[in-house]
Amino acid sequence: MKFLCRWARISGSWQTNVELTVDSAGWITAVQQLPSWPGSREAEFRAGADCVELEGAVLPALANVHSHAFQWGFAGASEFRTAERDSFWTWREQMFAFLEQLDPERMYSVARDLYQRMRRAGYAWVGEFHYVHTAPDLSAYRPRGLLGEVLVSAARDAGLGICLLPTLYQRGGFDERPLAGGQRRFGLSESEFQEVVETALSRWGDHSGVRVGIALHSLRAVAAPSGRRVVEWFRRQVPHGVIHIHVAEQEQEVADCLAATGRRPVEFLLDEFPVDRQWCLIHATHLTADESRRIADSGAVVGLCPTTEANLGDGIFSAEEFLLRQPGRIGIGGDSHVAINPWAELRQLETSQRLRTRRRAILCTSEDSCGEFLYDAVARGGAQALGVPGGELVAGTRADWVVLSSPDAPEIPPGQLLDRAIFCDPAPLQQRVYLGGQLVEPPGA
Ligand SMILES: [Zn+2]
Repeated sequence: MKFLCRWARISGSWQTNVELTVDSAGWITAVQQLPSWPGSREAEFRAGADCVELEGAVLPALANVHSHAFQWGFAGASEFRTAERDSFWTWREQMFAFLEQLDPERMYSVARDLYQRMRRAGYAWVGEFHYVHTAPDLSAYRPRGLLGEVLVSAARDAGLGICLLPTLYQRGGFDERPLAGGQRRFGLSESEFQEVVETALSRWGDHSGVRVGIALHSLRAVAAPSGRRVVEWFRRQVPHGVIHIHVAEQEQEVADCLAATGRRPVEFLLDEFPVDRQWCLIHATHLTADESRRIADSGAVVGLCPTTEANLGDGIFSAEEFLLRQPGRIGIGGDSHVAINPWAELRQLETSQRLRTRRRAILCTSEDSCGEFLYDAVARGGAQALGVPGGELVAGTRADWVVLSSPDAPEIPPGQLLDRAIFCDPAPLQQRVYLGGQLVEPPGA
């Protein structure tokens, strides 16, 4: 099958008249620039030969690097006051209470609905940071990784690639307090955790639409010696596997880490763990310039979740420092799923910088607009963060892309189509998603 793209985003620039060849398994086998847009008899010939013409701008589909699927069942259900000063911490208590209703059937139905919506929104992969391990009555599921299997089944049934990240969660804080209340469903010993990961690897290790990485929930939930042992063990099992961790999301977490260790969370993480390009640091909201530089030097990706971070009142990531001065790598994630929309994530990311600095057009360069700069960054960084092929339209990657077009105004240049998709809502555009070379039908189609 051939796809003729009027414009395609390739290696950070727009190329016109690009032909993508896709095999029957849904992989790109060749990318070729044609001398002109077929529009004569040649086009008719090609149209008869399994060829699709794509007007507008073609962009690689994105990875959603950070998801807690069950929170989709809870999104929008905590927008009222529960304390004199509501915060991430009071939201967390509500989230824990929601977990009391969560059994495997509910997990499956919530996750499948979420993943179908992600596909339609233009995501090709999800990183599922999965920390609910035991039943509501705290008994162990058999197999122990049952809920992870449920999540993988939901993704496969929805047609979305998944990087399952079984998550180690062992304590209630830096002071070693035990897990309490809703947190108790998250706890696993190191050997139980290894059993969960080994089972997932044996079931899904060879499947092209599934990856298995690991996550440490956070520095407050995992002691450094235990976290290091698990990371070393995992790297022996899967030398190129990815490792995710929540870090420096909340100012309280920074203060607690400083009090317990004398170091800030990112500083502590980089000192005590072998952080490299296989790592993804989720949030990293509160950074010093030195921490920002050290993350960039490590090659790790920062997994930003802009709409969730705004919803939870986390703070504003110093994106200008990290992306333009260092420069570092980023992906985007839906996290609590108050948005299932990559455009909304990128808009929030840029807009937050504008609100803080009272300037405009911050995350861009002299060559690339905000949309171009941010989209290129999260396409590349997202694929790296999940250890998956993609993020670029090149031979050897999945045929996953998003087409933006404006049938009423075909003269609009491709970069402006992308900027409109991000900064106008609703954008006066047509959006189509192809995954594995197949058109993803909109709801009701
Ligand atoms: Zn999270």
